[in-house]
Amino acid sequence: MYQIIDGKKISQEIKDELKEKTAALKADGKSICLAVIQVGSDPASSVYVGNKKKACAYIGIESLAYELPEETTQDELLALVRRLNDDDKVNGILVQLPLPKQIDENEVIQTIAPEKDVDGFNEKNVGALCVGSKGFVSCTPFGIIQLLKRSGIEISGKRCVVIGRSNIVGKPISLLLLRENGTVTICHSRTENLKEITRQADILVVAVGKPKFVDETFIKEGAVVIDVGIHRDANNKLCGDVDFEKTAPHTSAITPVPGGVGPMTVAMLMYNCVSSVE
Ligand code: NAP
Repeated sequence: MYQIIDGKKISQEIKDELKEKTAALKADGKSICLAVIQVGSDPASSVYVGNKKKACAYIGIESLAYELPEETTQDELLALVRRLNDDDKVNGILVQLPLPKQIDENEVIQTIAPEKDVDGFNEKNVGALCVGSKGFVSCTPFGIIQLLKRSGIEISGKRCVVIGRSNIVGKPISLLLLRENGTVTICHSRTENLKEITRQADILVVAVGKPKFVDETFIKEGAVVIDVGIHRDANNKLCGDVDFEKTAPHTSAITPVPGGVGPMTVAMLMYNCVSSVE
């Protein structure tokens, strides 16, 4: 029988721990404030921003919402980011992605002060992760490590395979698994004999961005499978990059979609906000 890695439960545990820490910080006269910027009204982004604001309220973090129109210019957005960089009251700045096409996302990310970059996307924080020094770790990969650790899954010495090499998931999760002493292989769209590699994994992280891409033929019997994908299937039901029904019986542990990696992203964002003050 396989274990279902419960992201809802683990993210709630983390939020409760953070709530206590925030109360202690407040008692010490320290408050936490997150500025959340959304440009345009993409419905998915509005849901994500809403969840982040809700989590802030639960934990006791003040959130400042900046809802800018779709036609906002690069200069206007950069001016706001710089103003928030200089505002001592603001500890964290989050710009919800994706941004409208007239805006250069990378320039915006690099403009956020590294010490307020709670998403961990700024080059300084990515570099810190690379060389193993202190910095904010991007929230989804950070959440995956927490899921594994809090489910009692050993990473050290294990063969870890990651499908995907994006800057927000594939690359940082590979670095984090390496930091935890896993033996890591990164696969991507040019990888030859993909299944031969994935079938060697003790821990397989799937961030391929394709619904139900991975099935039982990709995995070694008893592997741990982490599904990062989020999609809607033909029946409008949420599904991941892994075909759960086919794959789960061959695993020792697997994350479901929804309720696996997804809730961890917001919890780790909150973690980064609290540590920005700590
Ligand atoms: P992405 O930027 O589209 O990256 C996909 C990666 O998969 C790329 O590196 C690509 O390789 C690789 N790939 C594509 N086709 C492949 C194939 N046939 N064989 C092997 N590798 C292949 O996606 P992402 O931003 O990393 O996101 C991945 C998934 O996670 C998406 O479903 C996204 O919605 C989800 N996501 C969830 C959360 C959350 O909070 N749960 C957060 C972020 C993302 P190349 O580099 O060679 O093109």
